[in-house]
Amino acid sequence: MTKKIYIFDTTLRDGEQTPGVSLNPQEKLEIAKQLESLGVDVIEAGFPRASNGDFEAVKLISQNIKKSVVTALARCNKGDIDRAYEAIKYAPKKRIHVFLATSDIHMKYKLNMTEDQVLEKATNMVTYAKTLVEDVEFSAEDGSRTRKEFLYKILESVIDAGAKVVNIPDTVGYSIPAEYGELIKGVKENVKNIDKAIISIHCHNDLGLAVANSLAAIENGAEQVECAINGLGERAGNASLEEVAMALKTRKDCYSNETNICSEKIYRVSKLVSHFTGITVQPNKAIVGANAFSHESGIHQDGVLKNRETYEIMTAESVGFSTNNMVLGKHSGSHAFEDRLITLGYNLEKERVMEAFKKFKDLADRKKEISDRDIEALVNQGVVPIEDVYKLINFNVTTGNNIESTATVKIEYNKVEKIEAACGDGPVNALYNALERAIDIKPELKDYSIKAITSGTDALGEVSVKLTLKDKTVLGIGVSTDVIEASLLAYMNALNKLN
Ligand SMILES: [Zn+2]
Repeated sequence: MTKKIYIFDTTLRDGEQTPGVSLNPQEKLEIAKQLESLGVDVIEAGFPRASNGDFEAVKLISQNIKKSVVTALARCNKGDIDRAYEAIKYAPKKRIHVFLATSDIHMKYKLNMTEDQVLEKATNMVTYAKTLVEDVEFSAEDGSRTRKEFLYKILESVIDAGAKVVNIPDTVGYSIPAEYGELIKGVKENVKNIDKAIISIHCHNDLGLAVANSLAAIENGAEQVECAINGLGERAGNASLEEVAMALKTRKDCYSNETNICSEKIYRVSKLVSHFTGITVQPNKAIVGANAFSHESGIHQDGVLKNRETYEIMTAESVGFSTNNMVLGKHSGSHAFEDRLITLGYNLEKERVMEAFKKFKDLADRKKEISDRDIEALVNQGVVPIEDVYKLINFNVTTGNNIESTATVKIEYNKVEKIEAACGDGPVNALYNALERAIDIKPELKDYSIKAITSGTDALGEVSVKLTLKDKTVLGIGVSTDVIEASLLAYMNALNKLN
């Protein structure tokens, strides 16, 4: 009999704790919409008590997501739980997710509480959360290092209090598959009322075992997997959603489980998350890496040509990876372009399609063949439109090996034009120095990186910069066939986000 496995995505909560990642509410909403269309059962939208920005993002998501359950994280106190409820209350399907540490080391050093105190607090707070919503999940933080008898006892108590889902996380990524599987089996056998709740798991990848541990837990009775797109998350990250989903699908013969995931949408979500977070997926990453479906060895290529199954256990198409490259150019019309967008999984409003088409035409003047990767780079930029308070009018740079680079930048800010010039160590530095003189804020440049979207000398360059102003950090992206221009556009994009 096939059993349903619930996919709980925590890209927007644990994933956002990835060092250096910061998403604004609009970007989070766009990701949540994509997760909903991917078929994710539960979307963990954030930790509302953590900050006002987090609260607003969770609220926005709960106002817009209809099919998936929207959940928010709360510590075991009324303030956190109330705040979580205020943020998720608009969602048709809502859940409060409370957590408390249960391992000896966490209770002794972090909480300074005894087992009895932890048991009482967890039970009371689940009872309290139940007065607000029907669906409550309890996480025993550091569950994999918790004394087993105590784990059974606390799970039984929170289930009695009404928890519908009990999560046993491997918070520190210490477990190995056989041991973690045994742990879940033990919970199933020893918690008396476990049939009244769903067992959930949440694995971290510190030893590279998050997906393996998750699968071992499923084999032993876990029914909900907490995971994140591209394996984002604290430290080495969480179990990767795409790997868990495709392992369950490809090896259905072993797991006889089913998920709600529409696998053909995986690649598109992965790209969007990578774009918004600025975290590039490594090329050899399973499922969504650029090389995941390319065969380099002649023997492999020959085999695949004769019969794909010689070296392919799943198709690129099954995860939405388009293999159709370099199809559009200068003479392609808006219909062909729109068709390509649909094939690539975009579902944009007419206005946004036309904006993207204009960018595409500009690009076609500078680049002969436009690949799907180019189109993704152009379109992802406009997915969440931002107001252009700062506009670039023109720039000029002089550079060379024996002269100091000099740059002039002309921008428009609040409808007023400003022109400034500066020197610098190289053209980008000179441009940024000039730009900094033209604006009235002093953001700090935290990060700058550049990559080519495709190969060839006319390739699109994508520059990402991170700017920090007070406690706000934003990511700006600029795309152009000219890397100097891309650098400037990235900085302008970040400035507009800071505004
Ligand atoms: Zn975690």
